[in-house]
Amino acid sequence: RKLGYAILGLGYYATKIIMPRFAECEHSKLVALVSGTPEKLKTFGEQYGIPESHRYSYETFDRIVDNPDVDIVYVITPNGLHRTFTERAAKAGKHVMCEKPMATSAADCQAMIAACKKAGRKLMIGYRSRFQAHNIEAIKLIRDGAIGPVRSISTDHGFTIGDPTQWRLKKALSGGGSLMDIGIYSLNAARYLTGEEPVAVNAMESTDRSNPRFKEVEDIINFQLLFPSGATAQCGSAYTANFNRYRVSGPKGWIELDPATSYQGQSMRAALGGPPAPREPAPQAKNQFSAQLDHLSECILTGREPIVSGEEGLKDLRVIEAIYRAAREGRTVKL
Ligand code: NAD
Repeated sequence: RKLGYAILGLGYYATKIIMPRFAECEHSKLVALVSGTPEKLKTFGEQYGIPESHRYSYETFDRIVDNPDVDIVYVITPNGLHRTFTERAAKAGKHVMCEKPMATSAADCQAMIAACKKAGRKLMIGYRSRFQAHNIEAIKLIRDGAIGPVRSISTDHGFTIGDPTQWRLKKALSGGGSLMDIGIYSLNAARYLTGEEPVAVNAMESTDRSNPRFKEVEDIINFQLLFPSGATAQCGSAYTANFNRYRVSGPKGWIELDPATSYQGQSMRAALGGPPAPREPAPQAKNQFSAQLDHLSECILTGREPIVSGEEGLKDLRVIEAIYRAAREGRTVKL
């Protein structure tokens, strides 16, 4: 059976990356659209065969409660709006997929978890790398002991941000700079590669505040994480440098992905007791986007919890808040 998704927020990621991927889904279909722009509702409604009865504005969105075709609302708006739309979707009796970062504060994440719990609906965060073949292979190799216990992770995520007027550079809508948007991939990877939660954080920020892009949010913020096992992570996050990689090292070897968390083109190298060599992971049946969409549908159909539930989103936001505090106060913050 295929569950019905409503996509809320018809921006770049929704329309260019996610919506075309329903074609490869087994358990998910696109059945409704929610947007503040009537022209987008018309264009994408016609393109995807969504009838007018299944097209909503942000004002009429709450009427989705009366639409039995919609099982899940996928929130793909600027970060600062994730909480309110998640709460409204849950109140309308719908399950929720919400993009990363889950919200702009840990308190908002907690409110979103509470809203979905109260409604008896599932909440999943769009951590697509957990469904990507190379990342799945890296986690499996580590859990199988291929490099021994993880001792050190080095990871960097960044890109050059352009248009100074975009929402990513407005604190009220983004919650912060590169860390909220792209550095979160370094943090999330360090957590899923170790399978542990950090207990202490250091951080250092570098932002040219005279640059019109960085009036409200940070550019570079590098941070270190200490895990309970003694594993450590050096993590980079930037809006003026391009990278997307991680290397995980232990006493028996290392695994490297570069790029690591991109939309496509992941490349893996590993030294597992021998010389470094390229490695091709076991193929996955579906691309990361379709697999992510189907995961929530399957969890709903079978009564399981998503592997990246709201709790996962909350854990990242708690560490993000500690990273900002560590940078601001120039000290190690314990978690
Ligand atoms: P975008 O700017 O392309 O799209 C945002 C959409 O939200 C637009 O359609 C815009 O009209 C709408 N919107 C509604 N209210 C708005 C408001 N008050 N101000 C501005 N826009 C408003 O952004 P995007 O790149 O599609 O990002 C959307 C979300 O998806 C963000 O949370 C982002 O972090 C996430 N994202 C995730 C990935 C991923 O790989 N998982 C990739 C890109 C973006």
